[in-house]
Amino acid sequence: MRRAPLHLVALVACLLPLPGYLLLEPGSTAELVGYVVVVLLAVAFTGAGLRRLPRGARRPWLLVGACQAAFAVGELVWLAMALRGVETYPSAADAVYLTGYALLVAGVLGLVREPASRHRRGALLDAAIVTTSVAALVGVLVVLPAAQDGGSSRAAQLVAALYPLADVALVHLLARTLTWPGGRGGALLPLVLALVCTVCADFGWSAWQAAVDDTTAPRWMNLAWLLYYVLVAVAACSPGAAALASPAPPRRRAGLTRGRLAVLSLAALLPSLLLVGSALLGTEQHVVLLGGATLVVVALVLLRVADLLELLRQQADQLAEQARTDPLTGLANRRTWDHALARACAAAAARGLPLSVALVDLDHFKRFNDTHGHPVGDELLREAAAAWREALGAGVVLARWGGEEFAVLLPGLGAAAATARLDAVHASTPRGQTCSIGVAVLEAGQDPDAVLRRADEALYAAKRAGRARTEVAPAAPPGPGVPRGPAVPVPRLRLRPRAPGR
Ligand code: GH3
Ligand code: MG
Ligand code: MG
Repeated sequence: MRRAPLHLVALVACLLPLPGYLLLEPGSTAELVGYVVVVLLAVAFTGAGLRRLPRGARRPWLLVGACQAAFAVGELVWLAMALRGVETYPSAADAVYLTGYALLVAGVLGLVREPASRHRRGALLDAAIVTTSVAALVGVLVVLPAAQDGGSSRAAQLVAALYPLADVALVHLLARTLTWPGGRGGALLPLVLALVCTVCADFGWSAWQAAVDDTTAPRWMNLAWLLYYVLVAVAACSPGAAALASPAPPRRRAGLTRGRLAVLSLAALLPSLLLVGSALLGTEQHVVLLGGATLVVVALVLLRVADLLELLRQQADQLAEQARTDPLTGLANRRTWDHALARACAAAAARGLPLSVALVDLDHFKRFNDTHGHPVGDELLREAAAAWREALGAGVVLARWGGEEFAVLLPGLGAAAATARLDAVHASTPRGQTCSIGVAVLEAGQDPDAVLRRADEALYAAKRAGRARTEVAPAAPPGPGVPRGPAVPVPRLRLRPRAPGR
């Protein structure tokens, strides 16, 4: 028979006694003992879960397990004191509980590891904004009143302030776990729920103590604390526990969903709103604390905005680069070529330097595709582009003009020098293939379209002459309407009419 999964066994075994526990009279000895029994059961399951973990995944879980154990010792000390009617505060139980919180923080931080990235930094800043905001709220409502409680000893004031600070650390962990990129399921869900239970119960307890001077916690708080123990046990026994202990994949998105933005907006505004309220009420100490928190939140928000702007700039650069290049060969694309040609024509006309324009076309490429397949044809295009770029050297623009046709700008070179340079293109054409080249030299007053058209006609002539050669376009006869002078217009994108019979 197949054995039931350990996390389900843990869940059922720990939840089964709860209805009975709820029937016990609140504050009675039976209730205290029942509470501790469930705690010990959960701790035992946590230990069983940890034993099954592979060695590499154990470290953070051991810290979480040590926290469970520390909390359980705290509960036992507290039970012993309650049974003996001792009501000292703070007590040894508080020292053990607070140690437990430190272990929990270290353990969960170890679990939600992820590789450093810009998006991780963003998530950390978001968590820091939420944490600062909650710290401001807790500081005003719980920590300052506890620290100023004249009727308590120094130690009591300190411990009463440390508990809410530990809970602020847990809120930070919650913010980190909720945006962890390693996946929602597995052990993360029970762990997140466990943190929610303990944070709610802890803050409820602080508020309860401030409102009512009663050391017996209401039932729902005890229940929430018990659920914390049970859920941590379920997480440790879950099949996903090992995965949770390994680093998450890198974040791919900024993750600024509407929900997260709403939470961040509220968190960013809260200290300022509390500051205004405190200033109106004239509570000076609160104003100092909240003023500090407001400054920290503003600094964190500014950092976040600066990060997002940098991200936008990088993405805009990437998009611009993609718009400029041909995805297959990585060469300049037709759009970039048109601008480069217009600029080169204008520069050549202005400086009175020669400019040659060439069109290079792979010979019988359709046959190559038909013989070897389209993907191999793509390979040839990539290899030819790389080889020709290398062969042409610096100062020459090579672009993919379309299909298996490439365009070359040879600034400063007349027909003879350009033809000599283009011999390197013939020599470097890969896989035993050949190409045909048509060259035209820019003439005075000629526009970019016209020089390209002449190069195309020369290419057509090279094809007709038997391919695998370079043909130079003859000088154009001066037309009646051809404008003269240095100004050369930017060309329109145009489609070259297909030469028949190629
Ligand atoms: P010619 O010597 O006269 O230039 O003959 P050709 O076969 O090279 O020229 P044709 O114009 O008849 O065929 C060009 C072929 O180029 C047809 C088309 O399928 C192929 N082609 C265009 N773009 C790509 C591409 O991106 N990848 C691949 N693999 N083939 C392409
Ligand atoms: Mg062609
Ligand atoms: Mg061809």
